[in-house]
Amino acid sequence: MNRMGEVMGHLGVWIAVAATMHAILAGGARGQFVMETEREIPVAYDVDVVVVGGSSGGVAAAVAAADAGAKVFLAAPRPYLGEDLCATWRLWLEPSEDPADGLGKALFERTVFAEKSASTSREDRLPPTPMQVKRVLDEALLQAGVPFLYGCYATEVLRDDKGRLAGIVMANRSGRQAVRAKVIIDATPRAAVARLAGSTFEAYPVSSQTFKRVVVGTTPREGAAARRLPIPVRSISEDGCSVLEFDAVEYTLSMPMPDGSFSSFAQAEQRARDITWDPAQVGASEVLFQVPPNPVHCRKHLTGTWPGVNEIDLDAFRPKEQEGLYVLGGCADISREAAEVMLRTLTFVALGTRIGVAAAAEARELPAPRHARVSGTKAADAIPGDVREILTGIRSFPMETGTVRSNAHPLRVVGSYDVVVAGGGTGGAPAGIAAARQGAKTLVLEYLDGLGGVGTLGLIGKYYYGHLEGFTAEMDKGVAAMGGSEGKPAPSWNVEWKMEWYRRELRKAGAEIWFSALACGVVRNGNRVVGVVVATPEGRGVVLAKVVIDATGNANMAAAAGAECLTTDAVDIAVQGTGMPPREPGANYTNTDYTMTDDSDVVDAWRTFVSGRVKYKKAFDLAEIVDSRERRRVVGDYVLSPLDIWNQRTFPDSVVMSYSNFDTHGYTIHPLFSLSPPHEEPIAAYTPYRCLLPKGLDGIIVTGLGISAHRDAMPILRMQADIQNQGYAMGVAAAMAAKAGVGTRDIDIKALQKHLVEKGNLPESVLTDTDSYPALKKKLAAAVKDVRNDYEGVGIVLAFPDDALPLLRKACKASSSDADKRVYAHILGMLGDGTGAATLSEAVAKAEWDKGWSFTGMGQYGMSVSPLDSLIIALGRTRSDKALSPILEKAALLTNESEFSHFRAVSLALETLKDRKAAPVIASLLAKPGMTGYACTTIEAAKRAAEQADPNVDRDHSLRELILARALYRCGDHEGIGERILNEYEKDLRGHMARHSHCVLTSK
Ligand SMILES: Cc1cc2nc3c(=O)[nH]c(=O)nc-3n(C[C@H](O)[C@H](O)[C@H](O)COP(=O)(O)OP(=O)(O)OC[C@H]3O[C@@H](n4cnc5c(N)ncnc54)[C@H](O)[C@@H]3O)c2cc1C
Repeated sequence: MNRMGEVMGHLGVWIAVAATMHAILAGGARGQFVMETEREIPVAYDVDVVVVGGSSGGVAAAVAAADAGAKVFLAAPRPYLGEDLCATWRLWLEPSEDPADGLGKALFERTVFAEKSASTSREDRLPPTPMQVKRVLDEALLQAGVPFLYGCYATEVLRDDKGRLAGIVMANRSGRQAVRAKVIIDATPRAAVARLAGSTFEAYPVSSQTFKRVVVGTTPREGAAARRLPIPVRSISEDGCSVLEFDAVEYTLSMPMPDGSFSSFAQAEQRARDITWDPAQVGASEVLFQVPPNPVHCRKHLTGTWPGVNEIDLDAFRPKEQEGLYVLGGCADISREAAEVMLRTLTFVALGTRIGVAAAAEARELPAPRHARVSGTKAADAIPGDVREILTGIRSFPMETGTVRSNAHPLRVVGSYDVVVAGGGTGGAPAGIAAARQGAKTLVLEYLDGLGGVGTLGLIGKYYYGHLEGFTAEMDKGVAAMGGSEGKPAPSWNVEWKMEWYRRELRKAGAEIWFSALACGVVRNGNRVVGVVVATPEGRGVVLAKVVIDATGNANMAAAAGAECLTTDAVDIAVQGTGMPPREPGANYTNTDYTMTDDSDVVDAWRTFVSGRVKYKKAFDLAEIVDSRERRRVVGDYVLSPLDIWNQRTFPDSVVMSYSNFDTHGYTIHPLFSLSPPHEEPIAAYTPYRCLLPKGLDGIIVTGLGISAHRDAMPILRMQADIQNQGYAMGVAAAMAAKAGVGTRDIDIKALQKHLVEKGNLPESVLTDTDSYPALKKKLAAAVKDVRNDYEGVGIVLAFPDDALPLLRKACKASSSDADKRVYAHILGMLGDGTGAATLSEAVAKAEWDKGWSFTGMGQYGMSVSPLDSLIIALGRTRSDKALSPILEKAALLTNESEFSHFRAVSLALETLKDRKAAPVIASLLAKPGMTGYACTTIEAAKRAAEQADPNVDRDHSLRELILARALYRCGDHEGIGERILNEYEKDLRGHMARHSHCVLTSK
């Protein structure tokens, strides 16, 4: 097919898709509502001015308002600021444009490598890198003292007791929160807040609309309306020695728009990608650019050309009948010609500054909003069910910041599907493909603007182990073929190709894809999940689903639905290292591990992005997804244990086969791994279907990193190849349930397994496998004997503790050899039994401190405790009165130079014993030089930490301080030192640290 034929072919697809979308909107879904019951929404910020949107103009407005004395908060939708430049790739200045000063100058000055652009001619000016734009805007807000968050969409407006606007409600990955404000600056591209406030707009014209999309690394496609941008995109290596240049092409696309709804924009987005994708591309616009054709009706309507920033009447930016609202974007009530000029960055920034000053002045005259709330209304034909969501605030634990009332009101149903997949990442995209291939009407909701999650946007473009068969093998072949003969075979891939392969397969199978769509809750009817609540740049709505697949990678939907979850709690703190990679055009694999991020904590995600941009300031860009290896997991019908893996357990309902080693990126917490080292040799493991079903809920399946498993089991389960196959299996399962009209537990598992065997995902043996544990139990007596031989068989012993204990006690008492006795005492201690306490106590007393383990993220294999650490932990667990004294003696010998694992072992043991005599000893450890002061409560501290040469030191020291403080607090504290430190860490920007401290402080 020639290029034009291809384009016409795409048009055919578009017309069919448009017809389907229209049918959805005009058919069953239109006019349907879910009644959201009354609730309290936590207040995140109380400010004078809230800026909604992270555009350059929005940032300029926030800075100007703050400089004028207002208290300001900015809610940015993307994982960065500057979406008007970076999401659209509108980075080029026109020759006539001159960034003279201020923010405009900072944005366009290639400060980092200025020496490389020798020419001073305006025509030769390089576009700034995305990193430069994003960092300049981050710094502008930080310097102005404006708090801001990424990944937030406005979902409602607040009104006070007089009906005046009083702020917004926003949705993000922490749930929903309110921002009370006197004045709102709506800096969204299509005036989303004005829309939520009920302002009147011109009708969106039902006609072909013109959009722009930039593709980088290509040349213009024949027959397309496209222009090569004047100067190539340039990326310069950190040492300045290597320069990469890529041509960029701006396409002008005319596309039919049935209406101005989010789903129509979503379809236009897909269509634009169909037309412009190129295997040579190294980047492309995340969203289409358009000067909106439908302005909002404002106090003044201005015709004609743009009069200039200082001349324009600001009433053209103030929607009629709304006090305290400014529209800073293309929907302002000016001519479309003027809007085009206004949206050029330098003008936009200058206008933002003017509006920021005006907003601050207006706020000064207004009283603080009283009784701010979300207004309530009734819907006649609400469908059964209620919205369930996370309402704890901007951290992953509740803070006492007050709430606003959200009165009962209807939420519009914007679509109805068999299967809705929340998250289009490593697990989600394959799930969507599988469900759609099975004939299910499928929708994939993805917050970012590409598919594949960590494996594409997270720049982990390479397998590390994994079972490379079945769906994964099909995909690897398909991805490699995306560029014709130049395909890179797995185990590595071109991330642009993989994203596009997913997209095409989804569309080929008839699935719909909504990018920029954040799933922020579910609709639950009884114990059944019947839909997903989705926040988009246009507001919030409901997509109904017969089955929801939670592929958010952190069980976000299951948690919102009220499922019990596993995450950092009061018991312990351990988390695999998190990365946040720099991004160079064309790079596919950049694996990092330098921090620890809770990606369900929007403050922590903000810290990670801001400090990542400082760490990699010389890079071209930063990835847009937090590369967290460990995340919140659901408690399913079964929780997979490391012992299941260790013992090679088979199940009757296995649906995934994983294959990896215990690449733990930190320390382990399961007693097994304090007795026997986690394997460096790869092993295979099965996951039963029950691990993907949230306990107590129907209609929802979890896939990806959020599945039901102990954290120490996850290193074996988390490989991309396996999560892809897992996602595929869950897509088939969901389609089966939807088609048969049955619950997720009632599908024919054998039929599912048979399909997966035929596909190559699973070996045939799963069809006849039974639970292997009953047979294994028969080997327990032999295992109790074997453990004397370097803990061989300890996995079996720990798997059946109740049966093992009497055998172990007997063996311990009967042992004639000291070494054997010690092994039994050790295992018994780990199981909380004191039979061997005297033996352990003596062993600890006699031993000298051995070589311990210091925190290691990348490349951590094997034990994370020393032999003596392990004995100390076991001795503590005996709770014997013989335990305290030798442990305190050992503790007193530790210094700032001692390894982390020694402190952890001593702390674990002492906090189990909870003896007040331990408190002064722990306090004296904390008083030693270099032991305290590592809480990271400011963004400045976070930036400094990110820039450290050794990424392990900061984690080592802060974990040490926190764990010691916890033990001190639990032992009754000493002069309030433990509590003071925990209080400090409760404010830590690192979510796991803050949450752990909060849980410890509130669980006493
Ligand atoms: C730094 C790092 C290095 C790794 N190295 C390797 C390696 O070398 N080899 C290997 O095989 N594996 C590796 N892994 C493991 C593997 O990449 C991950 O386990 C896997 O990709 C996780 O898949 P997932 O589907 O659970 O999550 P993700 O791939 O993160 O997908 C989740 C998706 O859901 C979206 N999302 C989240 N919440 C919402 C919401 N509320 N609404 C809408 N969308 C949402 C996200 O944007 C994302 O696209 C690595 C992981 C990390 C983090």
